[in-house]
Amino acid sequence: MGAMIEPVHIIGGGMAGSEAAWQAARMGVPVILHEMRPVRATDAHRTDGLAELVCSNSFRSDDDETNAVGLLHWEMREADGLIMRMADRHSVPAGGALAVDREPFSAAVTAALESHPLIEIRREEIDWPPESWRSVIIATGPLTSAALAERLRALTGEDGLAFFDAIAPIVHADSIDMSKAWFQSRYDKGETEAERTAYLNCPMDRAQYEAFVDALLAAEKTEFKDWERDTPYFEGCLPIEVMAERGRETLRYGPLKPVGLTNPHQPDVKPYAVVQLRRDNALGTLYNMVGFQTKMKHGAQVSVFRMIPGLENARFARLGGIHRNTFINAPRLLDAELRLRADPRLRLAGQITGVEGYVESAAMGLLAGRLAAAERLGRPLPPPPRETAIGALHAHITGGAEAETFQPMNVNFGLFPPLDGARGGRRGKRERARAYTERAKPLWREWARLAPAAAPV
Ligand SMILES: Cc1cc2nc3c(=O)[nH]c(=O)nc-3n(C[C@H](O)[C@H](O)[C@H](O)COP(=O)(O)OP(=O)(O)OC[C@H]3O[C@@H](n4cnc5c(N)ncnc54)[C@H](O)[C@@H]3O)c2cc1C
Repeated sequence: MGAMIEPVHIIGGGMAGSEAAWQAARMGVPVILHEMRPVRATDAHRTDGLAELVCSNSFRSDDDETNAVGLLHWEMREADGLIMRMADRHSVPAGGALAVDREPFSAAVTAALESHPLIEIRREEIDWPPESWRSVIIATGPLTSAALAERLRALTGEDGLAFFDAIAPIVHADSIDMSKAWFQSRYDKGETEAERTAYLNCPMDRAQYEAFVDALLAAEKTEFKDWERDTPYFEGCLPIEVMAERGRETLRYGPLKPVGLTNPHQPDVKPYAVVQLRRDNALGTLYNMVGFQTKMKHGAQVSVFRMIPGLENARFARLGGIHRNTFINAPRLLDAELRLRADPRLRLAGQITGVEGYVESAAMGLLAGRLAAAERLGRPLPPPPRETAIGALHAHITGGAEAETFQPMNVNFGLFPPLDGARGGRRGKRERARAYTERAKPLWREWARLAPAAAPV
């Protein structure tokens, strides 16, 4: 029976491709997995193992009751995920986090895929999938080889595929102090209520601005890796601290300019500088700090950004960063099945879809593998409920995120439909997190059952 089904071709055997292969084969669909290592290397991978962790060995929090990444772990375990099974088998002590022993982990993933009767692994670089491959998952990651990236860019358009990310921090809307901040678009631009509330403003007086610039200059920064220096960041997305280095007034004439804005809390006082945050998702739960892409270390970011009036107690859904990356403008380019609208035989999975991190990438591999296999079997799956972690990430990249400013995203509760309205209600933080995970789990179980394992071959 299995041999009669056309295979799914998966390009890239990293976190996403490995999980996708496992999931499709588990449903009884044959897979051909094409991995270019060791024939061609990347700048970050060191081995020829599948699912190699290129940097840290952490899968982050393993708390599935009050943490969004922990919930993602739980959902992948429930769905028979290979990456989580091998991470659990090769975990090393790390407090509440899940950390893995990288070499035995990668070896175990490789062995499980190599020994699966429905999976064939070919060690070759794919420049572009031939027309004869009718179902393809592209999971080539942040360091997608140049030839394939160029072809993808030709298909998606110049601004459809980026080679660098420039991530500005994202703040949970309900943690912003609205007794100091206010909603207003510059010069009150905007026809609709949504447009008029698209920006949140945080005012600074002169002393606050000067102290803030000092803190930016003094903060600890992350170095670019040698091979990253070859890809310049563009003038339009300079790190905020680099702008500050160019002169003490630069920010006041750039992202912090105070013009066209009136503080309703103090209408007679002209702010010396204003930090603007822009709504980052349709739900209105997340706000993006405009122009604040940064190479500051994460700890430094939290303390420096909490100096901003209104953000003293900010909770960050994501901190800023700038990295070599390869990702598409998913909200514009992907359909709900993770297929390219421009060529629906091609699905994307992993970091290239605009998610960020090992766990998120594996999760998008799990989803793409199931969707592709279900399509092959003639039993298409509905998208996962957006109250689940995988469903929330999926909904974000396939339409919930603002396409114009799309940048890679980690999983976080700000992506979930709010529990009691957009401002989160009166619950405490842990209690609210618990409510999110309790709402998610039964829905995920139900969805995961729609793609049962095939009888063993
Ligand atoms: C330098 C660096 C450090 C990072 N550090 C971390 C970290 O500490 N924590 C974290 O969570 N995330 C980190 N990331 C992000 C991390 O890469 C992703 O989270 C994760 O590996 C992405 O999974 P993926 O499957 O999408 O890509 P990958 O795991 O990179 O897998 C892609 C695979 O595709 C192969 N490939 C590429 N092009 C082709 C082709 N044309 N034909 C065939 N095969 C191809 C590659 O060899 C690779 O095996 C880092 C990324 C980089 C670049």
